Amino acid sequence: PKTAYVRTKPHLNIGTMGHVDHGKTTLTAAITKVLAERGSGTYVPFDRIDRAPEEAARGITINIAHVEYETDTRHYAHVDMPGHADYVKNMVTGAAQLDGAILVVSALDGIMPQTAEHVLLARQVGVDHIVVALNKADAGDEELTDLVELEVRELLTSHGYGGDSVPVVRVSGLRALEGDPRWTEAIGALLDAVDTYVPMPERYVDAPFLLPVENVLTITGRGTVVTGAVERGTIRVGDRVEVLGAAVDTVVTGLETFGKPMAEAQAGDSVALLLRGVPRDAVRRGHIVAAPGSVVPSRRFSAQVYVLSAGEGGRTTPVSTGYRPQFYIRTADVVGDVDLGGSAVARPGDTVTMTVELGRDVPLEPGLGFAIREGGRTVGAGTVTAVG
Ligand code: GDP
Ligand code: MG
Repeated sequence: PKTAYVRTKPHLNIGTMGHVDHGKTTLTAAITKVLAERGSGTYVPFDRIDRAPEEAARGITINIAHVEYETDTRHYAHVDMPGHADYVKNMVTGAAQLDGAILVVSALDGIMPQTAEHVLLARQVGVDHIVVALNKADAGDEELTDLVELEVRELLTSHGYGGDSVPVVRVSGLRALEGDPRWTEAIGALLDAVDTYVPMPERYVDAPFLLPVENVLTITGRGTVVTGAVERGTIRVGDRVEVLGAAVDTVVTGLETFGKPMAEAQAGDSVALLLRGVPRDAVRRGHIVAAPGSVVPSRRFSAQVYVLSAGEGGRTTPVSTGYRPQFYIRTADVVGDVDLGGSAVARPGDTVTMTVELGRDVPLEPGLGFAIREGGRTVGAGTVTAVG
C-alpha cells in the first residue's frame, strides 16, 4: 500500500518581487541554500531559478520559477519571475497566487519604477502582506541605506500597507550565497519576519470547495480522475460535488497528492480526485469541481484590464468595442466580446475598464484574474470587478 500524505506544517505561497537586478533571484537561491544547510529543503542554484523552463500550465506562457522550502513552522512554495512583463501577467491573472510577498529593494539604488509598480500590482490583486528585503546591504553605505528604508516605508504607506509596521530586513543575498555567517544570519531574520508577519490565509479552507480542472485521466478499473490545485475549501473522500461545465453531480471516491492518498485536501493543495461514475469524455480542462450549489456560472462581467505593450509581447495597435479575443479564466479558454463603451479605444500599455460577454457561462466573481489571448500570444491581463 502507498504511504499516506501527512500534513506536518501549514503551506503558504509567497514570492519575490521588485525592480530588475535588485537581487530577487540571488535572494531566492540564498534562501534555499541557508535552509538546506539547516536540513529543511534542497539548495536551488541561481542558474536553475533564472533559467526556469516556460510553463504552459494555463495554456498561457508563464515564466515562473517555483522553489519549495520549509522553515521551523511552515512549508512554502516560493515563486520568482525573470522580467517585469512576467510579474504583470502572473500577478494580474492570479497565476502567482501569492499569500504574501518579499519586496526586494537594492540598498544601493532605492526605489525604482518597477519597485513602485509591483507594490501597486500587489495591492490590486489582494496581496495584503509585504516583507521588505533591503538587499545588497553588504555594499551599501549605512546612512544611505537608512534613507532607502525611509523611502520604502513611505511608498508602502502610500499604497495602504502601513509602512511603519512592515518588517524591513537588511540582507545580502550574494554574501549569504557565498556562506558569509553574518549575512547567512540575516537570511534567517528575513525568514523569521515572513513566518511571523505573513498570516495564514485561513478563509480559503473554510469556503465552499472549488477546484478548476487542469487535467482529466482514466485509471483502468477505477474510473475518471481530475487533477488541479484546490482554489478554496476542503474536500474529503465521500463528499458530494458538482462539475460545472459538464452538468454532472457525483461523489469523490478517492483523493491523492503527488501519488499519496490523503484523507482531506484543502486550499493550496495540488490533488487528484477520483469521481464516481463519470465518463471520461464528460469532463474537460476548464470545468470546475465545486461544492453543490456553491457557484452560479455567468457570462457577463466588468473588468479592469492592462493591455500589454508591444515591448511586452502585446499588440501594436489599439483595441475597440467589437474586439473578440480568447479569455483565459482559471483553466478555461472562452471567446468573449469586448465593450469599451462608445468609441473608446485601449492602446497597448493602457489600463482600461471594459465589459465582456463570454461565449459560454463560467463561474465568475469579483477579484478573479484572467488573461486575454489572441493568435497564440497574451495581449492583456485583467481582474473581474463586477459580475452580470
Ligand atoms: P533580479 O533581476 O532582481 O533577479 O537580480 P539578480 O538576482 O539577477 O541580481 C542582479 C545582480 O545583482 C547580479 O549581478 C547579482 O550578483 C547582484 N547582487 C544580487 N544580490 C546582491 C547582494 O546582496 N550584494 C551585491 N553586492 N550584489 C548583489
Ligand atoms: Mg531574476
